[in-house]
Amino acid sequence: MKTIKKSDRLGNVHYELRGPLAEEAYRMEQNGETILKLNIGNPYSFGFTAPDAQLNKLGENARNSQGYSESHGIDSAIEAILRYAEQKGIPNVTATDIYTGNGASELIQISLDALLNPGDEILIPTPDYPLWTAAATFSGGKVVHYLCDEQSSWYPDLDDIESKITYKTKAIVIINPNNPTGAIYPREILEKIVDIARRHDLIIFSDEIYDRLVLDGEKATSIASLAPDVFCITMNGLSKSHMLCGYRIGWMVLSGNKEGASDYIDGINMLTNMRLCSNVPGQQIIASALSGKQRAEEYFLPGGRIYEQNRIVCDKISDIPGLSVVNPKAAFYAFPKLDIKRFNITDDSLFAMDFLKQKKVLIIPGSGFNWQMPDHFRIVCLPDASVMADAMDRLGDFLEDYHQ
Ligand code: PLP
Repeated sequence: MKTIKKSDRLGNVHYELRGPLAEEAYRMEQNGETILKLNIGNPYSFGFTAPDAQLNKLGENARNSQGYSESHGIDSAIEAILRYAEQKGIPNVTATDIYTGNGASELIQISLDALLNPGDEILIPTPDYPLWTAAATFSGGKVVHYLCDEQSSWYPDLDDIESKITYKTKAIVIINPNNPTGAIYPREILEKIVDIARRHDLIIFSDEIYDRLVLDGEKATSIASLAPDVFCITMNGLSKSHMLCGYRIGWMVLSGNKEGASDYIDGINMLTNMRLCSNVPGQQIIASALSGKQRAEEYFLPGGRIYEQNRIVCDKISDIPGLSVVNPKAAFYAFPKLDIKRFNITDDSLFAMDFLKQKKVLIIPGSGFNWQMPDHFRIVCLPDASVMADAMDRLGDFLEDYHQ
């Protein structure tokens, strides 16, 4: 049989969240070792469950969910997302501007596939949620990373953005609140990004999947609400806010100035039609999930599980010589910095692999988030505070005599 090769389009795609480190962890588990996996933000793995109201709805609606829906989604879901967009102040949205997806992930890929030609440039943050870089690369686009600056609370570096725009730049992506840094961008920064997009005629993609997962009463502004005259695509979903990752419930909202975008929107319609529809049982619960109080909010207030877990991670990190962290304001991640001179670290994947093998904790190195220096890693802060404290103690022990 002749060799079967993957497509050339996959040649430059990197995606480490489930890569060699996770494979090594799996191998160790097969050998009977217990691994603490802090690599993926999957709340269910750490005892978080979806609200009963949504789980009951899934059961009640099972019989009505057997057929394909319209490719955009069922009416109740579209209406609820429309109302949610209104609450967030997102202008110029009608029902046809809303698409449900099998997670935001599917819509990220579709919206980039529909847009990018080989050589088209798209600005994506570094560090990023790596699906964005992988999906844009797979689409054939050229990813240009702009810096989020740790010295400035991990906010996007506006000068860096501006300096990287060329006549080929089609769009800018922001992730707000941010994975992996936990930053929330203030209004002034968002306004300046809108101004850049306006001046250079860029589409704004905003990934807001953590907008309801803000710590201690912080507020996340939707950039689209500040951009009535710019074409924006806002991504969101229930994976994190409702601890429902497995049901694959996401959506995107097109807003602002759509005047010149009809051909692109045709492309999006073509691709969403081709996948027929998103998971219908999942769509059935969007309306109830988006109405009323969001239970996840409680986890993020002082005394709440995620608030306390994040706090313990940040406190412990500040006690470990050679480590520092900008305290996250949202989501359930920390993105600490390593003093690479002290540990002589030149390869962050090796650092993560050594830590995994010695201390049985799986983390993802900064390079997995398209961070160029070997001086960061991401920790998922979802396990109980006592487990997080133990993981940080193991990290402290490991770093005591670590040298590459
Ligand atoms: N966007 C960001 C920033 C994420 O962190 C994640 C998952 O971790 C996703 C999108 C994927 O969301 P979904 O489960 O809706 O596909």
